Amino acid sequence: SELIHDLEKTITNIPDFPIEGIQFKDISPIFLQPKLYEAVIKDFVEFSKGKIDVVCGIESRGYLFGIAIAVALEVPFILIRKKGKLPPPFIGQVYDLEYGTSEIEMKTDQLQKGQRVLIHDDLLATGGTTEAAAKLVEKQGGVPAQFSFLISLEELNGSKKLEKFNADIYSILKY
Ligand code: 5GP
Repeated sequence: SELIHDLEKTITNIPDFPIEGIQFKDISPIFLQPKLYEAVIKDFVEFSKGKIDVVCGIESRGYLFGIAIAVALEVPFILIRKKGKLPPPFIGQVYDLEYGTSEIEMKTDQLQKGQRVLIHDDLLATGGTTEAAAKLVEKQGGVPAQFSFLISLEELNGSKKLEKFNADIYSILKY
């Protein structure tokens, strides 16, 4: 599609950043093109329209599109943050990185039991971050109903980690 073509032209690939062996996808040029940004939001909104009650965005690039998706759908937006940023009450979820572990947190007074949640981030790599976010939602009685990403790095098989949630998965670009 035209959207995919325009995004492929716009997103740049930086080899060996931030460390050797990583092909870093720089999405920041999208924000220099308001019309392209609008088209991205429209596409994400089409995927989620009528399917969800809440959007959860993952810090920090998950906020760039996540808030706009939530506003367009007229549903609440909840921030999933890196450890140590949220005031209580919150819960945390530890997950594995390539080396070591990390932790994300979510407030416990914002999601209601039974709510259907879109978990959104800019990029799906190994799926560890998104899986941890879905666990935070489930721990609170929410339903991870959808996952959306601007980009998915297919060879890392992130969607395998998400299969158990039986949710719809969508990424605009696949590399
Ligand atoms: P995962 O947990 O799926 O392995 O990693 C996904 C997380 O890492 C996302 O929050 C994403 O923002 C970040 N990330 C990993 N690699 C890249 C990359 O090449 N470009 C961008 N923009 N983000 C990345």
